[in-house]
Amino acid sequence: MPPVLCLSGLDPGGGAGLSADIEVCKALKAHALPVATALTVQDTHDVARCVPVATTLLAAQLERLLTDVRPAAVKIGLLGSASQVARIVGWLNRLRVPVVLDPVLAAGGGSRLASPALVRALREQLMPRATIATPNAAEARVLAGCEDLDAAAARLLALGCGNLLITGGDEPGDRVTDRWYPGGGAPRCYASRRLRAGFHGAGCTLAAALAARLARGDPPIRALEAARRYTRHALREAYAIGGGRRVPRRERFGPEAR
Ligand code: PLP
Repeated sequence: MPPVLCLSGLDPGGGAGLSADIEVCKALKAHALPVATALTVQDTHDVARCVPVATTLLAAQLERLLTDVRPAAVKIGLLGSASQVARIVGWLNRLRVPVVLDPVLAAGGGSRLASPALVRALREQLMPRATIATPNAAEARVLAGCEDLDAAAARLLALGCGNLLITGGDEPGDRVTDRWYPGGGAPRCYASRRLRAGFHGAGCTLAAALAARLARGDPPIRALEAARRYTRHALREAYAIGGGRRVPRRERFGPEAR
């Protein structure tokens, strides 16, 4: 059970953030090390508040845990503040393991979840450390500062991230197109029919699945294909817990997800 360091927020509804990471790691035979970056006030519709964990507390948790346990991969999701980033980067430089970065700038319900300082820190300090970064189309445009997704991808790869997956669930249309830009290789599009429901925690599920597969030794392209299959299965089987978006069913590892 390779440990995966998961840095993300706590969603009391259990749909996104750390609970997604824990469930995905369990299903994909890895062990989550869940370190909270923020506490949130939210329901299945949207996030109302996001309160950062103090950077000194986060740093103490990392120091204590990582002196004892060596993760095989790191997954970074929602961050609480720009000041957390410098501490996290210090650890990434020491650990030298694959990093999946899901740069969460806004909730699916529309609320902004990153200050301009955090956006800058993500772009300048974390993108260069990512083995795979997984922005959605809107996040890629903000991080790159341009509209066209191929141009945005070129800019984001130039920041130094190893591979880039721009997910298309937030774009309009009957089909969802995920764009894979491997560092140094030809880009590839994965298109699928849009599932009808809205989902809460879909991006967290995909990024955590990528991290779990990298932790188990997959190269990025194999991790990508396995994580996409797993996530699609979880979304097909998603269930409602409230009046808003559905939660992916992550514990089942059916034939389609294998
Ligand atoms: N809450 C937490 C803790 C998250 O990490 C995220 C996304 O990463 C969200 C809420 C928003 O999730 P979604 O956009 O899937 O609703």
